[in-house]
Amino acid sequence: MKSRVNKAEVAAKPRAQAPTRAEAQCACGAVALAIAIPAQWAWHDHSPASRRIHGAAYATYVGAWKSRVQFLRGEDKLTAFAEPGGVRRFCSVCGTPVTYERNRAPNNVNIPRALFTSGTGREPRYHIAIDELRDWAYLGEKLKPLKGFPGVVWTGGRKRK
Ligand SMILES: [Zn+2]
Repeated sequence: MKSRVNKAEVAAKPRAQAPTRAEAQCACGAVALAIAIPAQWAWHDHSPASRRIHGAAYATYVGAWKSRVQFLRGEDKLTAFAEPGGVRRFCSVCGTPVTYERNRAPNNVNIPRALFTSGTGREPRYHIAIDELRDWAYLGEKLKPLKGFPGVVWTGGRKRK
């Protein structure tokens, strides 16, 4: 079969290339960074400290090599909180947790997965402190619409702790 596509046209067309970096930003946008992808790893952190810092059942992080993290803006807007295991940095404007550096991994920076606007080349396949998983965390139970509340779904009337 003869192709109807002009060879010159094909050559001029840019090839779709896999992304080489992923960008992340805080809620207000004052702080933004990029990491080279694929990231080092990704993990769920169920530790009480991360639970409280995020105000969520658990935190999901993307771990990156420090040398492969580049701030695009707002690094000077970060404020730090030192804890026994490391240092966490937040956007001083909106409070979003932006980085978590653990003392045990000095060449690594963990960035909340939720801050990224695209894939990071790593799925979160690891769990830290899984024994701290809360019994109120949503684990994919079947949900159904709540009558009279558009957009609200619930698990139904069975008893929960
Ligand atoms: Zn912010």
